[in-house]
Amino acid sequence: MKKTFLSVLAILLFALLAVPAYADSTITVSAQDLTYDFPKSMTFTASASSDAEIQKMTLVIRFPTVTRRVDAEITPGKEVDARIDWNLDTDNSSATGGYIPPGVTATYTWVIEDAAGTTFETEPETFSVEDNRIDWETIENDDLAIHWYGAGESFGQGIYDAGIETLKQVREELGAGAGGKIHIWFYTDREDFQTSMPDMNVWTGGRSFGEYRVIILLNEPVDALDAVRGARHELTHQIIFDSLGGGLARQAFPHWLNEGFATYNESGDRSLVEYISGPLNRAIANDALPTLKSREANFPPDSQEALVSYGLSYAVVDMLFREFGRTKVQEMYRSFQEGVPSDATFTKVFGLDTNGLDNMYRESVGLPERVLASAGVPTPRAIPTFALSSAETPSKSGSNVTPTPRSVAAANTSAPAAATVVPASGASNEGGAVSTGLCGLGLGGVALAMFGAYGWRKRRNPTRL
Ligand SMILES: [Zn+2]
Repeated sequence: MKKTFLSVLAILLFALLAVPAYADSTITVSAQDLTYDFPKSMTFTASASSDAEIQKMTLVIRFPTVTRRVDAEITPGKEVDARIDWNLDTDNSSATGGYIPPGVTATYTWVIEDAAGTTFETEPETFSVEDNRIDWETIENDDLAIHWYGAGESFGQGIYDAGIETLKQVREELGAGAGGKIHIWFYTDREDFQTSMPDMNVWTGGRSFGEYRVIILLNEPVDALDAVRGARHELTHQIIFDSLGGGLARQAFPHWLNEGFATYNESGDRSLVEYISGPLNRAIANDALPTLKSREANFPPDSQEALVSYGLSYAVVDMLFREFGRTKVQEMYRSFQEGVPSDATFTKVFGLDTNGLDNMYRESVGLPERVLASAGVPTPRAIPTFALSSAETPSKSGSNVTPTPRSVAAANTSAPAAATVVPASGASNEGGAVSTGLCGLGLGGVALAMFGAYGWRKRRNPTRL
């Protein structure tokens, strides 16, 4: 052991002594700065000099889960001024930036290389992105920050209290650990909200950025109960996002189960809101329930079909807790965390596969058993998968946009309605992996379905919630 330590020491000493032999130039940075113009841009500047010609200056930004590198366009020389205008006003990550949601704290450094082969990296500078057009009120602890304006203290306090309770309750229930501080920003003015993010559809009412742990919601008119529901729903998705870990687990976790948990947790007493229970009950009465299998990857774009899907997902999660108990649900969750596919997980834990659970629920509401192939492939939907769960965000002009948002929007044109929850995050990942967003956990349609869901609710119940 001692010998190993000494060898390591020897190597380190050699390395230290060796540095001057290679670095025959000295790079210094005389000034650096960051200025913001949210939501348009951030400007990073640095001035560097060296005995040798500076050939490259790279800005490296380290976000909590993503690292971005951007090379400045410089004229090589012994004294160089570099400037990078980071464009926030685009969803698409590009060489010149990409949207970063408010609430994100990151560090940046400059890496400078000269012709003599010297590389110099500045000390990390920490910065936080914030919508500084608005004078925010904030209530926070180490786990959760609620930011709002245009409503009284009791509004923020109520959401904060419900949020803390939700985090504790859902983490306990799923056996999930904490994943880092979550920021929720409540906009109480539609125009502020719509200009806070690029490519915002008029009917969008919220977006979530799972990998940044940022949730942005519109709450206009101010409606405390609706805000609490939205926060509880999104926090549940965030807990699942954080605790599932890598891609395999996220792929294994069915979309209906993710939305089922989120809907189940919307209210403290686990009741189902009327705007979902109504369509669900009508589907039961008409024996028109979709299969769970068909909701494994996404929800349909039609708002009514989506609502029934939320209802069914809620009802099956509710059944799992009531019929099998929390310990079994936790066992199921751990199995997903290990990346075990859904049918294998359900069979191992409950003795029933997805179709078995489906029929168990059907029987509980008096519907006949449905015979389905166990190895059934999820029914293909019109929504291209991964459209929203990639690092792209749906936009009006982007080629990756599915037709869905527009069709939902068209259906809702009489009253641009609040939606919720679009997974998005336009950052490339240094490791090459693509993180998924919240409601898009499995695949794309989720968020679209939620557009419809919220649209429907806001139209039919403009003041009730
Ligand atoms: Zn959701």
